[in-house]
Amino acid sequence: MSDHQPTIFDKILAGEIPSYKVYEDDHVFAFLDIGPLSDGHTLVIPKERKAQLHQLSDESAAAVGRALPRICRAVMRATGATAYNVLQNNGSEAHQVVMHVHFHIIPKLGGEGLGIGWPARKLDDSAARELVEKMRRALEA
Ligand code: AMP
Repeated sequence: MSDHQPTIFDKILAGEIPSYKVYEDDHVFAFLDIGPLSDGHTLVIPKERKAQLHQLSDESAAAVGRALPRICRAVMRATGATAYNVLQNNGSEAHQVVMHVHFHIIPKLGGEGLGIGWPARKLDDSAARELVEKMRRALEA
């Protein structure tokens, strides 16, 4: 089950360090981020110890997918936020610091919340066709 180094989130799951717990079931745990971008900034994690999203088992992924919208609703009701971002970083180049899968729920409250850079390019037709072919083959593998 453990294919990567323990992180601080393992200690939280084990109750060895405290957290502001929001939600828990057999597969999922949610708690307040200790460095919030806005009030209600919450982390939702699988109990399964995996570093990145693509490594999660179907069972764990399904449980996270079920819990995530419910916790979003709770964050919205508790904070009054009508807008929020869900952020999920994979790999240090993508700003992942804690190497245990986690989803950030970040309410947009006033000027506070997630700031995003979005340097969009135009999608090239032939490159797009090639890419989807490769992806479809990868999905079949
Ligand atoms: P990321 O950059 O996606 O890996 O984000 C890791 C997040 O974990 C950061 O937003 C941290 O503030 C948060 N974090 C780290 N340690 C703790 C902790 N002990 N309790 C709650 N949140 C934490």
